Amino acid sequence: MTTADTAVGTPEPESADEQVVHILWMNGGLGCDGDSVALTAATQPSIEDIMLGALPGLPRVEVHWPLIDFESGPETGADTFIEWWHKADRGELDPFVLVVEGSIPNEAIKTEGYWCGFGNDPATGQPMTTSEWLDRLAPKALVVLAVGTCATYGGIHAMAGNPTGAMGVPDYLGWEWRSKAGIPIVCVPGCPTHPDNLSETILYLLFQAAGQSPMIPLDEALRPKWLFGATVHEGCDRAGYYEQGEFATDYGSSKCLVKLGCWGPVVKCNVPKRGWINGVGGCPNVGGICIACTMPGFPDKFMPFMDEPPGAKVSAAATTAYGTVIRALRGFTKRTADEEPKWRHKGNSLTSGYKSNW
Ligand code: SF4
Ligand code: SF4
Repeated sequence: MTTADTAVGTPEPESADEQVVHILWMNGGLGCDGDSVALTAATQPSIEDIMLGALPGLPRVEVHWPLIDFESGPETGADTFIEWWHKADRGELDPFVLVVEGSIPNEAIKTEGYWCGFGNDPATGQPMTTSEWLDRLAPKALVVLAVGTCATYGGIHAMAGNPTGAMGVPDYLGWEWRSKAGIPIVCVPGCPTHPDNLSETILYLLFQAAGQSPMIPLDEALRPKWLFGATVHEGCDRAGYYEQGEFATDYGSSKCLVKLGCWGPVVKCNVPKRGWINGVGGCPNVGGICIACTMPGFPDKFMPFMDEPPGAKVSAAATTAYGTVIRALRGFTKRTADEEPKWRHKGNSLTSGYKSNW
């Protein structure tokens, strides 16, 4: 959707002196479009703020996103949505950010057909696979942004026993892959991704495209460091219960959920700290165990869900023993902290400890 003109029709040529960054949003992979849906809930910033140029210093942005694009439609139909992809393929769209949602199946194992794709190849009239689009567009993109755990690491489609050979974008392009601007693949995982984590990363990349921010800092799994540097546990509202060795044995309890299967202590995700939407919610904060959906090993390495994670028994036992002592000490501290200091009283002398030195 263009910010200047949302009318249905053929793309207008851009004026030579106007810096426009296009965002091509490809959700032809294996996925549920949950990350697109999540982005509509972003508030810090909202996608509307980005698209409508409400943030100072941003380049003009044109988003070609099936979820909301008024130009959306079939090739050679009433509109020309897919033409933006063909323009990018022909090298007529520069610069553009390529957003990939959904995992990439291995088409090499599907010689009798294809797993997923979108649009047709004008040269042959045949459907274009998602992996072919990635082959064609990734070398021309300013940056490739993989959103959601399917696109980043393969997700549910890539779990053991899957028939498609699905994988994440870094598996497909290579973990050391760099865009023509020298930028690594940027991964914002989550099932779905956190709305503000995604909008904030888009914002960062746009500022980087405008030359106003340094290279985006990424961790070893290509996640933005400032968003994925801490564990769920470190931001969890229930962490105090964990430390005190108080564990829920059924849902509905406000205590720590580790014995119900929470993986929070080893999972990198800021959702409990940030809240899900507009600062509200955050899986364990509101009673849901963390199932590690932002992690490259999700889901296989964290299954079966709702079993006590390995290590939880040991650490919970240690925490229970340690927590008993802590609780006793805290009980004492709480009682004394509930009382006024002793020097606050009537009398003939000052007992606050004040010493005059003049
Ligand atoms: S509920 Fe999970 S994340 Fe929260 S304190 Fe317990 S183990 Fe940690
Ligand atoms: S807290 Fe756990 S389950 Fe919830 S979004 Fe983060 S990684 Fe996923």
